[in-house]
Amino acid sequence: MTSYGVAPEQDWNALGNEEFRTLVRSDFEQHYPAHLRYPSRRLLWSEQDDWYLRMARKGWIAPSWPVEFGGMGLAPAKLLIFLEEQERWGIARFQDHGIRMIGPVLIRYGTPAQQRRLLPPILRCEQRYCQGYSEPEAGSDLAGLRTTATPDGADWVVDGTKIWTTMAYDVTHMFLLARTGSAGAKQAQISFFLLDLAMPGVTIRKIRDMAGEEELCEVFLDRVRIPGDNLVGAVNQGWTVAKSVLGFERIHVGSPALPTSGLRLLEQVAGARGLADDTAFTDQIAGLRLDVEHLTAVYEEFALRLERGEELGPDVSMLKLWATETFQRIADLVIEVAGPAGGCAGAVELGGELVPVLSAYYRAKPSTIYGGSSEVQRNIIAKQVLKLPSA
Ligand SMILES: Cc1cc2nc3c(=O)[nH]c(=O)nc-3n(C[C@H](O)[C@H](O)[C@H](O)COP(=O)(O)OP(=O)(O)OC[C@H]3O[C@@H](n4cnc5c(N)ncnc54)[C@H](O)[C@@H]3O)c2cc1C
Repeated sequence: MTSYGVAPEQDWNALGNEEFRTLVRSDFEQHYPAHLRYPSRRLLWSEQDDWYLRMARKGWIAPSWPVEFGGMGLAPAKLLIFLEEQERWGIARFQDHGIRMIGPVLIRYGTPAQQRRLLPPILRCEQRYCQGYSEPEAGSDLAGLRTTATPDGADWVVDGTKIWTTMAYDVTHMFLLARTGSAGAKQAQISFFLLDLAMPGVTIRKIRDMAGEEELCEVFLDRVRIPGDNLVGAVNQGWTVAKSVLGFERIHVGSPALPTSGLRLLEQVAGARGLADDTAFTDQIAGLRLDVEHLTAVYEEFALRLERGEELGPDVSMLKLWATETFQRIADLVIEVAGPAGGCAGAVELGGELVPVLSAYYRAKPSTIYGGSSEVQRNIIAKQVLKLPSA
């Protein structure tokens, strides 16, 4: 039993890769509710809580966290298998920033007291997080954010507006950046906080997107109190913590999961349209498959670095760029191959099946914006990786 109350079922990394894959696959196939497979929209927590609470009880909720913190401690190859099997079986994701980002951040930057207090409720899915970085005037230029946090006794008082906050209305907590200083570089005036969204002064308003869904939100913070021990890292050192979160976000978005799901849809649409053996099509899909293979190889390299406890550098931008732009090229080809159905929203009848033709497009387009847009990733690669001179 670990200090986090989770009994590691066994050392997963001691299993062979294929043995591990078979085990995970059969669990998913036996237990994941059929009606939740491949949802064409993001599911609410209340629609999938039974599944994730089961994963939590089983000790499978945090596959990448170290075992001593209650995770499965999977090595990169095993983690990839786990994610691939989730993706293959069409398992919906919940808003799991707590698992994907805050857990790893607290393990790296949190105090032992914060780790003991904050990690267990994340593992039990009682506390689920959204990301409060972007503001109306601060997206790509994140360091220009205007939300302020002012010390007041043992607390901080936060004022400002966050925007594009995914699923804020369906989670319990937000991690956010706020300005706590006024001297020096803009980046050196920012701190990183964890906020309970039930606090007085928080107002959440939904935003409708191009697919007609309401996943994005504006979050208004009006004299909201945050206890001092919900500051992560030192005062005015939030930029370092924030960059680390972005690294986790970029490696996650950079996993082959998204483009692999796109390839599956592409094959389905091409099959339904009788194009599976068309040489022009097979040439195109072969090129895209190779791109996904390259992505997988690079992803494994970055995942290995994380496993060794290394900080991800600016080159992780390459991964995010490659994954999302490959996904976008696949999504564009889906539309082309679908013919007249390529312009229809919702599930369209193709070859006797109902197919959500535009679902990849709806996911691919925003993936080149969130977590830092493609243009911003190219700037990072040019300046910080290739050291090219500024124009
Ligand atoms: C689906 C979705 C979900 C999101 N979820 C969240 C979330 O949960 N939490 C959160 O905090 N944010 C979230 N975001 C916000 C996202 O991080 C921002 O949209 C993104 O950082 C871009 O910022 P912006 O929208 O202000 O665009 P801007 O920064 O205004 O950029 C507009 C355009 O200008 C380009 N541009 C900007 N600066 C440069 C530059 N220096 N060089 C070249 N081109 C440049 C951009 O690439 C873009 O094309 C989400 C966004 C989307 C689309």
